[in-house]
Amino acid sequence: MKKKIINSFCYLIIGVTLITSCKKGEIIPTPNTQTQKTFETDTPTKIGKKLPNPFTVENMQNAFNQLSREKTETELETNQLYVRFFPETTEESKELEEQGLILWDIPLDVEVEQYGTAFHDPASPNTTMTWLYTTVKPDYKFGKIKHEIIDSLFLPNLVSEEGKRTKSLFNEFSSDDLISKSLNLLGYEDDVDSAPKRASSKYTPKGYIKVQQNINGTITNVAVKKAKVRSRWWFDIGTGYTDDNGYFSCNETYRKNRDVNIIIIFENEYVDIRGIKGLNFLDIFFTERKNIGEFENGSLENINYTFNNSSDLNSSNKRFWMACHTLNAIREHHVYCSQEGIQAPPLGLNMWLTNAGKKGHSLSTDAAAPMLKQMGNSSMILDATKLFLVTSGHPWFAVSLQVLLQYPPDITYNYSGSEAAENIYSDKIAQTLFHELSHASHYNKVRNTFWTPYISYVVQHGGYGDANTNGSGRIAISEAWADFCGSRFAHLRYGNTTSIGNTWITEIENFIPNSGIYGWIPDGVYHDLTDNGIEPTSTSVIDNVSGYSIAQCFGSMDVDVVSVTGYKTRFISEYGSSQQTNINLLFKSYGY
Ligand SMILES: [Zn+2]
Repeated sequence: MKKKIINSFCYLIIGVTLITSCKKGEIIPTPNTQTQKTFETDTPTKIGKKLPNPFTVENMQNAFNQLSREKTETELETNQLYVRFFPETTEESKELEEQGLILWDIPLDVEVEQYGTAFHDPASPNTTMTWLYTTVKPDYKFGKIKHEIIDSLFLPNLVSEEGKRTKSLFNEFSSDDLISKSLNLLGYEDDVDSAPKRASSKYTPKGYIKVQQNINGTITNVAVKKAKVRSRWWFDIGTGYTDDNGYFSCNETYRKNRDVNIIIIFENEYVDIRGIKGLNFLDIFFTERKNIGEFENGSLENINYTFNNSSDLNSSNKRFWMACHTLNAIREHHVYCSQEGIQAPPLGLNMWLTNAGKKGHSLSTDAAAPMLKQMGNSSMILDATKLFLVTSGHPWFAVSLQVLLQYPPDITYNYSGSEAAENIYSDKIAQTLFHELSHASHYNKVRNTFWTPYISYVVQHGGYGDANTNGSGRIAISEAWADFCGSRFAHLRYGNTTSIGNTWITEIENFIPNSGIYGWIPDGVYHDLTDNGIEPTSTSVIDNVSGYSIAQCFGSMDVDVVSVTGYKTRFISEYGSSQQTNINLLFKSYGY
């Protein structure tokens, strides 16, 4: 018979069980005195020499004076400051981020010799913190955070965008011509300058971002949905998001021969995806991002990038591949929620993707939805974070805990855990994510009134406890709901093409109540309320109920419904009158 679904997919429990039982030594991290700054397979970013900055107000003034034939000199005013900050605590970093500053770990005025996955600024030696580079308005109020002003800038395009002074300032030549002249003055080649009268082409960064999908060994490239794409040349920054076909177009254009750096960032309105991959504070603080290098001219308008999987769990390729699957699952989950008439997860989820260190030290249990960021400041955050992200004794414990407490996880997913071998199949990964996201939908309906005792229960019992533990009813209805939606949505997405030798909907139909240690969680019951099929005899379930919708199942998951029998009573009163007898029989065959 099939392995019970709860054992396959309720990863939290497996993790917790292992911690507290026989396999203890395999999963609990032990202190590691080695200095391990990043995973071996990470490519370091290498920077070269500092470049003369064409955008300083002085250089722009010189360029302006040379282009202008007017007799009265126009005085350009600083309209941005190029600065760097050195946050000394995670609170300070978060403060900078919350101000909406676009923070860069690489200085904006240097030659980059190699774009890699890890960078430690040589200007910040011997520390896990580092300088962060950005621009701010001239009247920016610097607080207590350590900072330096590097250059006072005049950004001509900012004036164009403001619109007001454009006419008076750029009546003889365009802002782009001014930039070309400023480059020319510092010895940069910019061939636009040699023919300033000619209307010059501009290029928009656009193209497709894809990811390798693996269904039972069959590989196809599919879209990455809602990935953020950032383009940058000096201080000219553009942003775009991929659509459901993986296509993006940034909101900035660039003149000929300008080397534009393109970065794919794993964040959008739904989620911020972070990974724990190094001792360096930035490795944890920044959302996942892949710098794919520089593009110019026609190639800028034809960017095609595909994320491939890697068999090396510690590689950045594996992490990015998982992050692509996460973006896709979240987007698809939102679409299915809307289609099925159930509430979507809250926006702005904090998602942590984790794996084990080189010695197999695990940084989290397999997958869970503690919703800690959404719940807000709470006395549970420290205990729950430690429970859901098993960090004690790990070499990166101190740094990761600091960041985690500032960005507490709503959902965690450890792809190197006991199910690592399963984490190569796209449909299995999606099913796990749909499961966790369905907890997030449930959370969005019942909020902290339900969730606080739910998480307290899990922390107190180090997991789910058993059917007789006081409060286990919350676990039973929540887990059954998440498994039902996980499989249902995986079926909507993958149909008959799966990696499990079965459809995902058959998998939940075949659930056998009361088998195994978590058999008290009635995994198949929501499916049985909605299906019209014939119940397999192997399950011993009496299913003469049919025709309910997912929305109705969700409708009875009210904040005061905290047990399976409570759920049954509520469902009957809301939707069940004509099928009352059969609903009672169905729940009875699940042991309720
Ligand atoms: Zn669950």
